[in-house]
Amino acid sequence: MLRGYPVTCTTPACPGVARYKIAAVWSDGLKLELKTYFLSCAGCLPGHYARARTKHAGCVLADGESLQAPAVYERPTADDGGPLVRRADLENDAGPAIDDRGAGTV
Ligand SMILES: [Zn+2]
Repeated sequence: MLRGYPVTCTTPACPGVARYKIAAVWSDGLKLELKTYFLSCAGCLPGHYARARTKHAGCVLADGESLQAPAVYERPTADDGGPLVRRADLENDAGPAIDDRGAGTV
């Protein structure tokens, strides 16, 4: 039974299904949002994660805003809006740990 179509990887021309979301928790002190950097298939994940970390490092934050380090989440396989599952075990290949960023750390 067709339920829409699978979300594909952010990499141009990559036909892979986006099993993973690379995102960081952003807050302005009042609300929290999950800021998505990339949707990625398994094969492109290390490259996307490295680029997300680069983007994160260059992100300009306004006063009171904070942005946690990018994290890898596994998307639900069914198109049912199930919960994202944090996959910290997939975040280990991209170099040393980086800190969360936020007000007062600039
Ligand atoms: Zn891909």
